[in-house]
Amino acid sequence: MSAAVRLEDVRVPLGEDFPEIRASVRRICANFPGAYWRDLEAREAYPTEFVKALTEAGYLAALIPEEYGGAGLPLRAAAVILEEIHASGCNAGACHAQMYIMGTLLRHGSAEQKARYLPQIARGELRLQAFGVTEPTTGTDTTKLKTRAVREGDHYVIHGQKVWTSRALHSDLMLLLARTTPLDQVKKKTEGLSVFLLDIRACRGKGLEIRPLKAMVNHNSTEVFFDGARVPAENLIGEEGRGFRYILDGINAERILVSSEAIGDARWFTKTAVAYAKQRIVFDRPIGQNQGIQFPIARAHAETEAADLLLRKAAALFEAGLPCGDDTNMAKMLAADASWHAGEACMQTHGGFGYAREYDVERKWRETRLLQIAPISTNLVLAYIGEHILGMPRSY
Ligand SMILES: Cc1cc2nc3c(=O)[nH]c(=O)nc-3n(C[C@H](O)[C@H](O)[C@H](O)COP(=O)(O)OP(=O)(O)OC[C@H]3O[C@@H](n4cnc5c(N)ncnc54)[C@H](O)[C@@H]3O)c2cc1C
Repeated sequence: MSAAVRLEDVRVPLGEDFPEIRASVRRICANFPGAYWRDLEAREAYPTEFVKALTEAGYLAALIPEEYGGAGLPLRAAAVILEEIHASGCNAGACHAQMYIMGTLLRHGSAEQKARYLPQIARGELRLQAFGVTEPTTGTDTTKLKTRAVREGDHYVIHGQKVWTSRALHSDLMLLLARTTPLDQVKKKTEGLSVFLLDIRACRGKGLEIRPLKAMVNHNSTEVFFDGARVPAENLIGEEGRGFRYILDGINAERILVSSEAIGDARWFTKTAVAYAKQRIVFDRPIGQNQGIQFPIARAHAETEAADLLLRKAAALFEAGLPCGDDTNMAKMLAADASWHAGEACMQTHGGFGYAREYDVERKWRETRLLQIAPISTNLVLAYIGEHILGMPRSY
């Protein structure tokens, strides 16, 4: 669709849209039960088999255009894939980044870069799973990031450090944001940052070191150290100095996709809590008969439905080429809150058994907590709503 679409003509699908995709994803996920994820976590291992199954089914290439060998599906279809993965009790964190990172290459990469990388990614021969933005000393204040890329002949030489670079040890390529013009030499702080497609295989041991980062969830996160890693100039995406804009361009898609995971988590928690509340008998009656148990589950369900509706609206606006930042940010916060409240209700409903690993409640509870912090923290979404939507003074 083109940007000429009028707001009043945008249609939001209700109910189980993309039913074939949903059914197929559920079938795949049925092969990866809770025991699979518990075993991985115990070994801090990567879900190689799960990612392989999704790749072979073509789901990780959902957003790659057909001309490059992908499925060329709309963003909403990708959102449905991620929602179903999470509603099935699985976790897409190991591979979801490929869906949204690839958008930067698609929108801003050269014809040559797209022809070189996208077909290989679509075939599952090349993994583009790592996204190097966050740094230890600057955090959410992205434009202050310190990693430098300095042009030397036909290469850029990289020095600096990234943190929380998930999947870097399970990816062939990394989309890297680095400063090419020092902050004190640019007119606006958003200028002078550039995006590179860094070949991890070529750089490791040559100025690139990746160390696993132990974390509360099995997200295969890492710390990445650059000490003279060399990236060919031809791997610069778009124009030098415009990288921050390119990353921002992809942020709505990323937030819509990650919020879909929150909706999936919320549905898993609600379904699991309801089942347990109906069958657990204490004081000679099912615990779900007590309103103290029933109401938090009911409230979380209502919150999930509301967040899902706003999220569908954001995806429809995105697809129509209309501004979608406001709805995307609000949907991200509401979906993360709904999944957290559903997780809390599920945990409380299970009493002590919520802590037992074999129920998977505590794993999903830890996993969904992340959405309050990453990819954007709740406070920063509230700041966006306060400043950009409501016009109140900027806090930072
Ligand atoms: C498991 C995991 C995986 C991740 N994967 C990736 C990845 O693959 N690639 C990547 O680049 N990053 C990744 N991240 C990083 C993630 O995006 C950041 O952690 C997140 O953006 C928050 O940044 P920060 O941790 O530096 O928090 P900080 O910026 O230090 O903020 C700390 C707290 O202060 C609050 N705060 C800061 N400024 C303000 C303000 N002005 N007003 C109100 N509150 C404020 C924040 O909301 C937050 O709660 C990951 C993080 C985790 C935990």
